[in-house]
Amino acid sequence: MVGLSLAAALRNLPLDVVVVEPVPAGRDDQPSFDERTTALSNGSRRILEGIGAWRQVAAEATPIRHIHISDRGRFAMARLSAEEQGVPALGHTLTNRVLGVALADACRTASRLDVLCPASVTAVEPGAERVRLAIEGAWQGQLEARLVVAADGARSVVRKAFGIEATVWDYDQHAIIANVVPDRFHDFVAYERFTEEGPMAVLPLSDGRCAIVWTMAPAAAKAAMELDEHAFLAELQDKFGYRLGRFTRVGKRYSYPLSLTRSDRQVAPRAVIIGNAAQGLHPIAGQGFNLGLRDVAALAEVIADDVARRGEGADPGAAAVLEGYAEWRRADRRTVIAFTDALVRVFGNPLPPVRALRDASLLLFDLVAPAKHAFARVTMGLAGRLPRLARGVPL
Ligand SMILES: Cc1cc2nc3c(=O)[nH]c(=O)nc-3n(C[C@H](O)[C@H](O)[C@H](O)COP(=O)(O)OP(=O)(O)OC[C@H]3O[C@@H](n4cnc5c(N)ncnc54)[C@H](O)[C@@H]3O)c2cc1C
Repeated sequence: MVGLSLAAALRNLPLDVVVVEPVPAGRDDQPSFDERTTALSNGSRRILEGIGAWRQVAAEATPIRHIHISDRGRFAMARLSAEEQGVPALGHTLTNRVLGVALADACRTASRLDVLCPASVTAVEPGAERVRLAIEGAWQGQLEARLVVAADGARSVVRKAFGIEATVWDYDQHAIIANVVPDRFHDFVAYERFTEEGPMAVLPLSDGRCAIVWTMAPAAAKAAMELDEHAFLAELQDKFGYRLGRFTRVGKRYSYPLSLTRSDRQVAPRAVIIGNAAQGLHPIAGQGFNLGLRDVAALAEVIADDVARRGEGADPGAAAVLEGYAEWRRADRRTVIAFTDALVRVFGNPLPPVRALRDASLLLFDLVAPAKHAFARVTMGLAGRLPRLARGVPL
């Protein structure tokens, strides 16, 4: 998702860009463009507009007009609405698979962009002026690049090949995702519900369906995956309640182990680490891809500025370009990682004093408009120094 987004963002610059991807889109084991639904912030929507992928997906994207946050078995809750924030939508939901097709189409027409697929990067040889990459797969051979962007996910082999370590924290939780059909219309509300077992998100989708992201301990997730449809829906109903009436059907279920992966550095000589390769987050706040897209927009901008300044002499892998990028991304990255991790710890903690404190915070949050506004700006992807693409300005 992140690598192909970057390729789409760079496709009109006078640069030769090559994407290396081992798993073709559409295959069941494609780890990025799968059945998940992503909650996209407004900033992400603008970036996707700017890179030419939004028009194709707009009809399939569902607006989120309200967010409803609650704690199961407790009275505390908080609400956020688009109207209150003065925006048409707080964000949109979109299936990863649909986004994948649009990004691939945006890349297809670019004359200086090649997608090598199925192919993998198997070795990296850094050099002062160029990096040499060994590629295996349908296309075999060596590539030389002035800049290598590692967007190969949380277990990035490219990151490792550049000698960059990552800190991994296993949350000992799995997320089950599935689409469900409730008998009451969702009315464009996204629900975030905290339960004793873990947080659950129920997101609005097209045709009145909802996407669930349900987090629980690995053993509980294994058991829930094995339940038949009827028993699974009964369990879901018990945890979620009846705000959407009865859940009548559930589609295919998938389970994902959850961890926090944070690369120790974002750049190395002639290399940048972006997306999940730089930071793989818990999905509790739906921020992983949104943060990765801001990596994309910022990196595309520093590269485009270098091209504008130096023309033919531009070097996207020059140390000054990469340092500018790393410096720019530091604060956003730190804030979103800390915010997401804190949510997991506070809302996953069953101790009574912690629950009481978070209930009080939810109630307070619901009453204090400036707190809501500040929170909404972060989750809508509109806080901090925004790249041009996230502000709707072309590269
Ligand atoms: C259950 C769940 C729900 C989520 N919901 C949201 C949400 O609502 N909002 C949000 O913003 N984020 C969400 N996320 C996070 C989001 O899915 C990730 O941030 C996103 O997938 C990161 O994309 P990526 O391209 O960086 O990495 P990945 O999706 O991991 O993709 C890595 C790519 O690299 C390829 N690759 C692997 N090895 C190599 C190699 N050697 N050479 C070349 N290519 C290679 C892979 O085939 C793959 O295509 C969610 C995550 C989960 C698990």
